[in-house]
Amino acid sequence: MKKLCFSLAGLFTILCYGQGPNLDKDYEKIESKVIEWRHDIHQNPELSNREFKTAEKIAKHLKSLGIAVQTGVAHTGVVGVLKGNNPGKVVALRADIDALPVTERNDLPFKSEVTSEFLGEQVGVMHACGHDTHTAILMGVAEVLANNKDKINGTVKFIFQPAEEGPPPGEEGGALLMVKEGVLKSPDVDAIFGLHINSETPVGVIRYKAGGTMAAAQSFTIKVKGKQSHGSQPWSGVDPILISAKIIDGLQTIISRESELTNEAAVITVGKIKSGVRFNIIPESAEMIGTIRTLDYGMKDHINKRMKEMVATIAKAYGGEATCEIKDATDITYNDPKLVDQMLPTLNRVAGSDNVQLQKAITGAEDFSYFQREVPGFFFFLGGMTPGTKESFPHHTPDFLIDDAGMQLGVKAMTELTLDYLSAK
Ligand SMILES: [Zn+2]
Ligand SMILES: [Zn+2]
Repeated sequence: MKKLCFSLAGLFTILCYGQGPNLDKDYEKIESKVIEWRHDIHQNPELSNREFKTAEKIAKHLKSLGIAVQTGVAHTGVVGVLKGNNPGKVVALRADIDALPVTERNDLPFKSEVTSEFLGEQVGVMHACGHDTHTAILMGVAEVLANNKDKINGTVKFIFQPAEEGPPPGEEGGALLMVKEGVLKSPDVDAIFGLHINSETPVGVIRYKAGGTMAAAQSFTIKVKGKQSHGSQPWSGVDPILISAKIIDGLQTIISRESELTNEAAVITVGKIKSGVRFNIIPESAEMIGTIRTLDYGMKDHINKRMKEMVATIAKAYGGEATCEIKDATDITYNDPKLVDQMLPTLNRVAGSDNVQLQKAITGAEDFSYFQREVPGFFFFLGGMTPGTKESFPHHTPDFLIDDAGMQLGVKAMTELTLDYLSAK
């Protein structure tokens, strides 16, 4: 009876989600290698735009699989192109490869002891965002796919991307530079997939959201000009500090009164304000800097436009002048809803539908967005927390920890998303 139940469940899965390419033996064989690669990369982390050794290891591996390799893309990026036995579309798979200036506190046999110079300071270096797992997973996917070219109806492009955490000041880098250098061209990419391991999601679980998934990050600088006067005689000057206070207040009403927050979240934060030198002087000017986070292109445009208008008009109302300059840092990580619909059956099949969970949008940012601005893309989150763990530590912290067991589902998901996408009629 038990056996029958299992086979009925299996039949149900096949009917609902289609039959996969049956690569179980390949996945079994690759798991220990993926873990080994991850440990090696974890123990030898490199900062953004300095991923020289990591890139070498990736390129060597891809070449050993007979994959055409291009190195030095966006400084240290590695791109591999694998042609299947049958013609078809082009899928890109992306893994980011950089580490962070964080000193590891975990007691692991493959703990990082690496130090490096960062902005003139000596710092510990750690894969504190889990990009070591992304790299190892994609190396594993490359090997599985290279061994199954007969199942590939098209071409797969492997994008190993440097500097996701942002290039050092004064340097270009990351996804934006890769796109600029033509990584999505010749062969032209039809769709792109990416994942992020998550230290607070249990192993075996995949989380996703269609549409705006991670926010566009923008920074702004507001310069307020008043007129200096004695602190005892405000009527003879124009107070830029008072104007700044009114501006901060006004900006928050763009979120609370003008943004349709049931559509998507949006954030304006003033993070720094600088003005004045002495208790009895009304200063000449004030400067504020901050960040804007949006998950919808319409809302982003509206907020940007209204911030500029409001800053200028509020200052004018109080007799001063002000400007607001806005700079893009990262675009919206926008999961193409059609592509998500199309590929969900694949994720349900590889993870089990109970383990594929909808999630809320994240107001943090990810530069995978620059690929998605060019071609339809799907970026999802992969569980990396040991099930039953009482305490998990967030990304970018010294105690950040990922369970090796989480990577296997990443290999399966990326492999089968690729094969299913390329097989779709
Ligand atoms: Zn990160
Ligand atoms: Zn990350």
